[in-house]
Amino acid sequence: MSLIVQKYGGTSVGTPERIVEVARRIRRWREQGHDIVVVVSAMSGETNRLLQIAREITPSPDPRELDVLLSTGEQVTIALLCMALHRLGCAARSYTGAQVHIRTDSTFNKARILEIDEQKVRGDLAQGRVVVVAGFQGVDGAGNITTLGRGGSDTTAVALAAALKAGECQIYTDVDGVYTTDPRVVPQARRLERITFEEMLEMSSLGSKVLQIRAVEFAGKYGVPLRVLSSFEEGEGTLITKEEQQDMEQAVISGIAFNRDEAKLTILGVPDEPGVAYRIVGPIGEANIELDMIIQNVGADGNTDFTFTVHRSDYQKALEILSRLADDLGAREVEGDNRIAKISLVGVGMRSHAGIASTMFRALADEGINIRMISTSEIKISVVVDDKYLELGVRALHSAFGLGGAVQDRSRGE
Ligand code: ASP
Ligand code: MG
Repeated sequence: MSLIVQKYGGTSVGTPERIVEVARRIRRWREQGHDIVVVVSAMSGETNRLLQIAREITPSPDPRELDVLLSTGEQVTIALLCMALHRLGCAARSYTGAQVHIRTDSTFNKARILEIDEQKVRGDLAQGRVVVVAGFQGVDGAGNITTLGRGGSDTTAVALAAALKAGECQIYTDVDGVYTTDPRVVPQARRLERITFEEMLEMSSLGSKVLQIRAVEFAGKYGVPLRVLSSFEEGEGTLITKEEQQDMEQAVISGIAFNRDEAKLTILGVPDEPGVAYRIVGPIGEANIELDMIIQNVGADGNTDFTFTVHRSDYQKALEILSRLADDLGAREVEGDNRIAKISLVGVGMRSHAGIASTMFRALADEGINIRMISTSEIKISVVVDDKYLELGVRALHSAFGLGGAVQDRSRGE
């Protein structure tokens, strides 16, 4: 018997029938003797609906009032879920974020959790109740309602799990786990039994939107084992956890992430002298444009080239800034391309295995795919290619690294 925090997303509580389904699932866990704390999102579409109403009143709603409004979605689902639990004979109580003292800073619309006083929750658990907490919301020092940013219920669940030292934080969603890559691109993609926090962060930041990134960071920092599972089917889901040193069977590559959201810019023939990188990157940063990959070439004849990628929506703005800079810096030319895609291999096993990059580059070469940029980190190799080659490239890599196939059941002991 252990303490488990479960989070159910918007689709899982999207209709009254589904709420009853969730209640049944919770009761089964209770019957196995576990203490259960539940965090719920608003019914699917509800947060967007509330936002839309606010925008019909004013294009720029006051952030404080917006949080008062948006937090209501979750208040609906906590009450409904408790009613469903009661009907099944399961003792339960609902609480808003403020009621269980989820203290945040005062950054309305994207507040950060500062502390949680878990005494109240513990008191209810001791009385044999399921505790149902509204996700996505908290309260600041002055008693104002705050929200944690879109998708923030994941973070509420992880924070509660950390505060309560729960055995596991289970995130129930509409997919049955984390996959080696997007199954819509590679039908052979396989559900991972396990993945490390670090790998999950890379996969999420590269577009695998199963979990809010902040929730993964939080879980990693506090060592909360996270499990992603389907609320519609039975299954083990994917466990996100610390890297285990003794795990000899750990695959070298865990997955392939990709995105089409970037654009690439190059400034050619800038003087190769101190301060140039700063003079290029400075104005881009001041315009609030985030850089992803940055590459500077080895200088030749006193000149060098500088290439970086930005979010595609910032492409025009970045291009304008760079064109202006080109004159100041005496650069030869500015080039840009917004039809690129980034593909990344992710795996902690890369640290101890040679030859990953060469296998990757050969697989792409065999398909005639030209690599436009390369960057690496300890557990990731990313390439930029023309976006028309995205699917082909991902499929080629998925098979080159043998990522497909049936899910292995470790419990049967190989
Ligand atoms: N209801 C909020 C949203 O839609 C929070 C969440 O679902 O996690 O972003
Ligand atoms: Mg959500």
